[in-house]
Amino acid sequence: MKDSGMYHWQSEGAKKSSVDDMVLLTKITEAAITDNLKRRLMEDKIYTYIGPVLVAVNPFKQLPYFGEREVAMYQGAAQYEVPPHIYSLADTMYRNMLIDSDSQCVIISGESGAGKTVSAKFIMNYITRVSGGGQRVQQVKEIILESNPLLESFGNAKTTRNNNSSRFGKYIEIQFSRGGEPLGGRISNFLLEKSRVHSLNAGERSFHIFYQICAGATADMKSNLGIASPDFYSYLLQSGVYKVDGTNDAHDFQETLKAMTVMGIAEDTQMDILRIVAAILHMSNISFNEENNASFITDPGYLEFPAFLLGIDAQILGQKLISRVFDSKWGGKSERVDVTLNTEQAQFTRDAWTKGLYSRLFDYIVETVNKAMVTDANLISIGILDIYGFEIFTKNGFEQFCINYVNEKLQQIFIELTMKSEQEEYKTEGIHWSPITYFDNKIVCDLIESKRPPGIMCILDDTCATMSAKSEGADEDFHRKMESQVGLNPHYQKFSNGFIIKHYAGNVSYHIENFCEKNRDVLFADIIEVMQTSNNEFIRSLFPDVINASTKSRPSTAGTKIRTQANELVTTLMQCVPHYIRCIKPNETKKPHDWDDQMVKHQVEYLGLKENIRVKRAGFAYRRPFQKFLQRYAIITKETWPSWSGNPTQGIHIIMKSVNMDPSQYQIGRSKVFIKDPESLYMLEECRERK
Ligand code: ATP
Ligand code: MG
Repeated sequence: MKDSGMYHWQSEGAKKSSVDDMVLLTKITEAAITDNLKRRLMEDKIYTYIGPVLVAVNPFKQLPYFGEREVAMYQGAAQYEVPPHIYSLADTMYRNMLIDSDSQCVIISGESGAGKTVSAKFIMNYITRVSGGGQRVQQVKEIILESNPLLESFGNAKTTRNNNSSRFGKYIEIQFSRGGEPLGGRISNFLLEKSRVHSLNAGERSFHIFYQICAGATADMKSNLGIASPDFYSYLLQSGVYKVDGTNDAHDFQETLKAMTVMGIAEDTQMDILRIVAAILHMSNISFNEENNASFITDPGYLEFPAFLLGIDAQILGQKLISRVFDSKWGGKSERVDVTLNTEQAQFTRDAWTKGLYSRLFDYIVETVNKAMVTDANLISIGILDIYGFEIFTKNGFEQFCINYVNEKLQQIFIELTMKSEQEEYKTEGIHWSPITYFDNKIVCDLIESKRPPGIMCILDDTCATMSAKSEGADEDFHRKMESQVGLNPHYQKFSNGFIIKHYAGNVSYHIENFCEKNRDVLFADIIEVMQTSNNEFIRSLFPDVINASTKSRPSTAGTKIRTQANELVTTLMQCVPHYIRCIKPNETKKPHDWDDQMVKHQVEYLGLKENIRVKRAGFAYRRPFQKFLQRYAIITKETWPSWSGNPTQGIHIIMKSVNMDPSQYQIGRSKVFIKDPESLYMLEECRERK
């Protein structure tokens, strides 16, 4: 592989000690891959290729090579002429899109804190910098860039693994004119981890916006919205973590407001949004006591402020928290019964309420961003997928189950497109080839999502369909059903209060508790009815639901939604030319130049980098249909110039011979010519240039 040698971070010694493209490693073992990545990171080289796949190691420090100089340097440069860089991948996507008029996508994967979101932002930045455009285009660019801080405020949080962890998945498509100007965009969001509104693990925070408002509210906001310090609110108090290293919440609050303005959100509406954020905080201070199994509000005074902010009646708020109307069916007749709740159920109701409010607010924000950049033209696009990484915590619940399922699907696409299709093409083309084995995780995807025989999600939906409104015993029922229906699957294993799935990225034990309730995911009808009485128009608009107790149709479950979304995403991605970034997290300390060998090796293993290199290396770096090859390289020799009309295979052999191509370097299939190493292709390119 050629190296420009002109680059300041490219020291002489480094060239000998590590390779830019791991296809060139002399030994392909997980240890050798890990070692190569380590040497590079120690020299502040975070990018390495496996053919067209970009491996990015998180440096945990700002590196100097993301400036104007690099933007200029990577524009139009071939991958092999310049050191590996994310700009090179971004440039390839952009140019491919323009040359072929094909939509492109990049799938960014890696575990929490590995650098996916940062990578996604580098790509957005690069593309907006190299694409031209007039006033509307500049505006679209600003919206695209400002959507990041806005969505991060509402959708990211500090977790133990990442100080700015995305708690939702995002697929952003930037839509371009044929001339390459961004004219619009579209964001699809996936499964916000909304339980974070009310439940925090030790050492973690809720969504950034809650702390931003506490740190940055103006005096007016403070008095109108009742903003105090974070420890005043029960939800934030539970973890006791208020500050994050390197984050200035007050400053970020200003950024959030500015971003809202860029999205065209009027100041009044901005206040309404903050009103909901504040109301959620205040609702967390409503607490309950119990007498004879019936809960009551400990201090009804705490109802006043949230009720005021939400524009609803304080007494009704209180009443709806400690009792619930159930639709019960007796002899075919539907009847509404008012049931008193115990403390636990009352807390559950309060949390369901705040969580429901927050997720509707989040959806509103995404929708607003989409409206701001909508275009009705049918355009080509570049899609960037930044979805939360694979998660293994000490205690994993329904959220981790969904997150890991989506990651499993993405791994499936990767396998489908890089390993399977590659090998299948050799077969159809009749290329001599010894197949490489790899783990195909389809079996795990099926275990989770299969309809027939029913996989875990189907079993869960079935259980939810028959569970009582109070959901008693449902989780146990689900547990039993799984054992009888998927118990024999080698990737499933039961334990006393949960189950283990052997994912491609490791074994995860899921606790069964609340799976059914979280999957059912309905906001109680009487809460929605109260919200519809709000005197605030914006708040009412978040609850357009039509409640009709007699309708038979079941609302779709959280599991069904994520399965549908994941499959739609796969369809969308499959229609684009795919690119991949595999992010690697080098340590848990978040410090620069700190390397945890075991940790990296594990990622190298489950990302399947070794198999990826082996397929690439045993295979052919480039392929071209006969005619395209002949058109491009006919110029190399007089015999084929200006055009070759004879047998294509013969023409190709003539060209290869004229450049002294090593016969082991290429094979001719049924319709395409395959070239083994990138160097051989470069040699052809050079011969062509010289003519
Ligand atoms: P999650 O799945 O939790 O959302 P993620 O993969 O999106 O994780 P990021 O938020 O992109 O992870 O990265 C975590 C942190 O690591 C960043 O906030 C930043 O501090 C640091 N980081 C990641 N990539 C880079 C980089 N290229 N340069 C400098 N710092 C980086
Ligand atoms: Mg992220």
